[in-house]
Amino acid sequence: MTKVFAVLGVVGMLAGASILHAHDRAPKGPSEDGTLPALVKIAGEGEMNSHAFEFLTELSDDVGARVTGTPAERKAEDWGVAKMQAIGLTNVHKEKYTIWKGWTRGTAEAELLTPVRHKLHVDSMGWTGSTPAGGVEADVVAVNLFDIDNEIKNVSRLKGKVALVVAKGNARRMGIEGFIRMGELIRAARPAGAIAIIGGQGGGMAAGMNLTHTGILGFDADFAVPVVSMTAEDQGQLERYLDRGITPHVRFNIQNTFTNGPVETANVVGEIRGTEHPEQILVVGGHLDSWDLAEGTTDNGSGTATALGAADAIVRSGEKPRRTIRFVLFTGEEQGLDGSSAYVKQHQSEMANHLGDLILDAGQGPVKGFQLGGRDDLIAAFQPFARSLANLGPMTVDDKIESGTDTLPFSIVGLPGINMDQDTSEYKFTHHSAADALEAQKPDVLTKNATLMALAAFWIADRPDRFAAPWPAKRTARMLRDQHEYEELKAFNLWPYGDLGAEKDDTPQN
Ligand SMILES: [Zn+2]
Repeated sequence: MTKVFAVLGVVGMLAGASILHAHDRAPKGPSEDGTLPALVKIAGEGEMNSHAFEFLTELSDDVGARVTGTPAERKAEDWGVAKMQAIGLTNVHKEKYTIWKGWTRGTAEAELLTPVRHKLHVDSMGWTGSTPAGGVEADVVAVNLFDIDNEIKNVSRLKGKVALVVAKGNARRMGIEGFIRMGELIRAARPAGAIAIIGGQGGGMAAGMNLTHTGILGFDADFAVPVVSMTAEDQGQLERYLDRGITPHVRFNIQNTFTNGPVETANVVGEIRGTEHPEQILVVGGHLDSWDLAEGTTDNGSGTATALGAADAIVRSGEKPRRTIRFVLFTGEEQGLDGSSAYVKQHQSEMANHLGDLILDAGQGPVKGFQLGGRDDLIAAFQPFARSLANLGPMTVDDKIESGTDTLPFSIVGLPGINMDQDTSEYKFTHHSAADALEAQKPDVLTKNATLMALAAFWIADRPDRFAAPWPAKRTARMLRDQHEYEELKAFNLWPYGDLGAEKDDTPQN
């Protein structure tokens, strides 16, 4: 959010507050709206009788890595169904959908041959291809992320080479445009005869000591050319050689397998039915699928265990919300939010009855706030609830959209895709890497995050007034543009609103 929008937001909130005061309808928190006794019971179950870490241990060690569309991921679906049934959720079932193509990781071997000889640590990016069987030798050349236009124009110079993505000079092109343009370069590289590309998601360098980070390179994007993430230590050395005018010579043997699509997968769904308005639904969840360099604990076993732990705490409390809480463990998140997009499509006819979704997908760190996914109108209503959590820590509330997880498809249809904002100081090393294992998750932090999710879910579903309904298309389109989502959605063919919201007028929108 820009400073301009932040200022407008404050003005809007002040105006809103005075109107509310005039009507004597200041937003009520749990101690005024009648939800507090139930929340106290749920907090007790969540903190004193939690099974969240048990769930995470099972998912990590007994199911393990679970790439969407693979047998391991189907095993995870069955595990999710069994857990939801054991917890006592109702209407537990799978909702099938397909992704465009399947992918299986094979080997990724790389060696620096000159000027010195040693093994290079690489892993394939998801849904990328292979070198000729047995591998090939090649020189390494640099391609500049900040000069992508010229690199695409001169892509023929990559023939027979391994391209190393570097970032030199003016950084104005970074961010989502870098990500998009990087995809264009990778797409052009194979027909031009490139052997392989070294570079992570968005062309970024791997974070952490001797870690690689796999991941997809676009929404539902696959590439015939092998693209690898290389450890920062090895990549840095290659780049230093190139800077000195020395051409490193390497041997690459990268083997992966594509499976022709469509490939079947499924979201896992279970409910706590509402007592007064069962047709009104809050979706609560995380994603069940993971990458495959480790056991997928923090991305997003933590979110899965948080959602199941939250469900467990609410069921054990014996408290029933007025509206339905629908727990959904999405698959296909890592390939481009495919599970949550499929959910929104499959439930199109009942989206008007949805209240939004509530997601945890930033790993193992403590929750420090709630991002209301574009809905600035809900900040004032949510704040008294956030303040009621003061004993569990300070909680920030804003209307930011988190576009990197299953909140985005809900924000696109004008509902609050609520992201539980977390400390990511350790997640930045574990996600998509070989360090994504149970050792990374502190049980007490997971327990507290699950309790916070249970409290937020129950409060939203049970408060006397309906928390949210979808915004109309025009207001949603304007909001998405203001939050700078348009460029990305347009580039990946996900923008559904045409020219809507583009006109710059001062008319207040409703
Ligand atoms: Zn994730």
